[in-house]
Amino acid sequence: MSGAGDLRRVADLVAAGLVSVEDAPALARVVDRFALAITDEMAALIDPADPSDPIAAQFVPSPEELDVRPDETTDPIGDGPHEVAPGLTHRYPDRVLLKPTHLCRVYCRFCFRRDRVGDGEANLSEADLDAAIAYVAARPEIFEVILTGGDPLVLSDRRLAAILDRLEAIPHVEVVRIHSRVPIVDPTRVSAATARLLRRRFATWMVVHVDHPRELTEDAAAALARLVDAGVPVLSQTTLLTGVNADAAVLEALFRRLVALRVKPYYLHHLDRAEGTLRYRATVEEGRAIMASLRGSLTGIAQPTYVLDIPGGHGKVPIGPDPLTKLGEAEDGATRWSVEDPNGDAHDWEG
Ligand SMILES: *Cc1c(COP(=O)(O)O)cnc(C)c1O
Ligand code: SF4
Repeated sequence: MSGAGDLRRVADLVAAGLVSVEDAPALARVVDRFALAITDEMAALIDPADPSDPIAAQFVPSPEELDVRPDETTDPIGDGPHEVAPGLTHRYPDRVLLKPTHLCRVYCRFCFRRDRVGDGEANLSEADLDAAIAYVAARPEIFEVILTGGDPLVLSDRRLAAILDRLEAIPHVEVVRIHSRVPIVDPTRVSAATARLLRRRFATWMVVHVDHPRELTEDAAAALARLVDAGVPVLSQTTLLTGVNADAAVLEALFRRLVALRVKPYYLHHLDRAEGTLRYRATVEEGRAIMASLRGSLTGIAQPTYVLDIPGGHGKVPIGPDPLTKLGEAEDGATRWSVEDPNGDAHDWEG
């Protein structure tokens, strides 16, 4: 599914004034390797006169994407080792990832699954979906099914409802989580009817991917309101990106606006080492410094957890900042700590 005016070819980018005719041949080689799509809504936010536009930086391809570094891989978070059936990843005991499609409405140039999204075998076959559902049904320890991809909201309401119907028939599935960028990048896709079909026997949670406050347009705000009003709690996830949001003021504005829209910031992801993504890298020290500065100035309900997905499929871990430094043992067997407060001052504490 795509909107009439979406940008899907390098020629579209040239016509929109987002890249020059001279750059087009090099970018065509990039797009052969990594899919291209920019929705009208996101294209309209780009200022073509600004060479460091944070929306363009996420979606407009660059020749640097073909410069693959030795520490970059096609599967940076290690989905592969935990794939138990086509489209189904089971890494943690109580939850699985189900990927009903490889398609997205936009292709983020830093995507951790960029090697697999946007390809020809777009949707999971009926047989593979049957096998995935059977796997979940056979395992009572699976409490939550996370629909991801690709982007599950590229599916029609009818296909989405059919998948939810099948999950609803599995009594031990108590939560279904949908990871999507669609409410932000193609907000009119999320109609009131879409929001209503998500309301089920189980709790349906939506996690929207959003990286810059400018993405939160009036239309996106309306889509988020339709979800929350329909009884779907909404969380957000953001990737820390140099050239987009690796800046305390930008992230503070983003997280504040999300909370004002009734969206709880959930994760700030340290960038995964996907191929050709060097231009986006920030250091962990930068990420921790940003998080530490937000701790003092930003309401607690707007604070996400800063996480790293350990390469190789070893899982996600919070990476700080850690306010505790161990000083030694206390006499009663407890530990002596130094605790740093939001102003950066240290305090002794035992516990
Ligand atoms: C990220 C991820 C999840 C979800 O993790 P939460 O910490 O619950 O958000 C589940 N399975 C896999 C394989 C993941 O990569
Ligand atoms: S929407 Fe998500 S899965 Fe799709 S390209 Fe962007 S980051 Fe990757």
